Amino acid sequence: MQINNAYLAEVYQKVEKRNPGEKEFLQAVGEVLESLVPVIEKRPDLVSSGVVERLVEPERFIQFRVAWTDDSGKVQVNRGFRVQYNSAIGPYKGGLRFHPSVCSSVIKFLGFEQIFKNSLTGLPMGGGKGGSDFDPKGKSDNEVMRFCQAFMTELQKYIGPDTDVPAGDIGVGAREIGFLFGQYKRIRDEFSGVLTGKGLTYGGSLARTQATGYGLCYFTDNMLKKKGDSFVGKKVVISGSGNVAIYACEKATQLGAKVVAMSDSNGYVYDANGINLAVVKQIKEVERGRIKEYAARVPGAVYTEGKGIWNIKCDIALPCATQNELNGDDAKALIANGVKYVAEGANMPSTPEAIELFLANGIYFGPAKAANAGGVATSGLEMSQNSMRLSWTFEEVDEKLCGIMKNIFENASAAAKEYAQEDNLVAGANIAGFLKVAEAMKAQGVL
Ligand code: NDP
Repeated sequence: MQINNAYLAEVYQKVEKRNPGEKEFLQAVGEVLESLVPVIEKRPDLVSSGVVERLVEPERFIQFRVAWTDDSGKVQVNRGFRVQYNSAIGPYKGGLRFHPSVCSSVIKFLGFEQIFKNSLTGLPMGGGKGGSDFDPKGKSDNEVMRFCQAFMTELQKYIGPDTDVPAGDIGVGAREIGFLFGQYKRIRDEFSGVLTGKGLTYGGSLARTQATGYGLCYFTDNMLKKKGDSFVGKKVVISGSGNVAIYACEKATQLGAKVVAMSDSNGYVYDANGINLAVVKQIKEVERGRIKEYAARVPGAVYTEGKGIWNIKCDIALPCATQNELNGDDAKALIANGVKYVAEGANMPSTPEAIELFLANGIYFGPAKAANAGGVATSGLEMSQNSMRLSWTFEEVDEKLCGIMKNIFENASAAAKEYAQEDNLVAGANIAGFLKVAEAMKAQGVL
């Protein structure tokens, strides 16, 4: 971590002292503070109003017990979290993650990043995030329902359509959102837009399911166009095979690329003919199975157990699985194989070393905060539709999403040009996201 500004370095040291051992969280804060050096040097007013010290400390952090009974009658206990990080520009907004790796560090890193991402969308949404160390994998529908009901029984005390609006994330898809929404409605006796990612029969928005993956490709398309290039004929590698990865694969293919590999936490498949997405959807969305099964169903496809997806030659890499899944060695392998563009669908999938290598080697890099903001942007559109009690068509939502991703790209590029180098979208996204929140915090006084 190299923060070349005494004030920002001191803020970082305080965060380190207050949050010992929280490595994901410290990594996320460090990266943002590093980018803010040129802004803070130009804006002493932001120092005197204590904006940065306030921004790194969550407004509220809630941790609670979730007790539920499994199918064998055994009592299970999980830990639930919600961080309400910053409400300067709107109600807290951010997903819920159900995964065994969930802990306070992961929730705080995600909540912190969410502040800037939501700000970049141009919509009035503050930053929040939540989840549990519960693992939906291998659980029956009834177990997932009982868990979601127990989780929401506690969470409902803290959320509301004008206060905090959670959504899905890893392990929280349409099934979980349905159970969570049902329990909120039952306890609060209120049918409202308290969650996004809802089913279409009860207030969901068309195109929300596709939004993060599609948005990632729209963002990447803007990067390509900037270089006078396009998706047509490009080889793409996408990690993960969840919601983001599937719809990134769909849109990249529609835009003329060939996606040659996808993965899950066990291994990856390589298909030189281009991934057959209908097979992936059947395995992942319908059967909740493993990516390994793809190779058994598609002639010519090869499955490899374990990591290694980034050794595959490609023009465009889209990491869409999880944090820190692409390290320095992976970045070196990608660069050696001639990758030209990397854009992040997952949150913080590239390690700081990997990002440094991409930037130093002239790889055009789209950071998560900007590149994957399409999901939350469309959640914002779902909130608008719920408030107005109407629904837009798929095409209307998709068109708005495409416009939002273009704006995010342009705003991040403009901020990068003003404060760093034009192609440094890491700095650009952090700075553009920060400035809007900082002005709002300053205007609202010391809170
Ligand atoms: P899903 O749960 O639908 O899919 C996650 C995918 O990543 C699965 O293929 C999963 O494999 C894989 N994965 C999870 N953990 C690991 C790991 N430790 N190592 C390797 N692979 C792993 O989640 P989403 O697609 O919704 O989310 C993916 C990423 O995108 C996350 O970082 C999320 O925060 C981010 N994101 C999601 C948004 C959304 O709208 N859904 C919005 C913005 C960001 P397996 O099945 O084996 O666990």
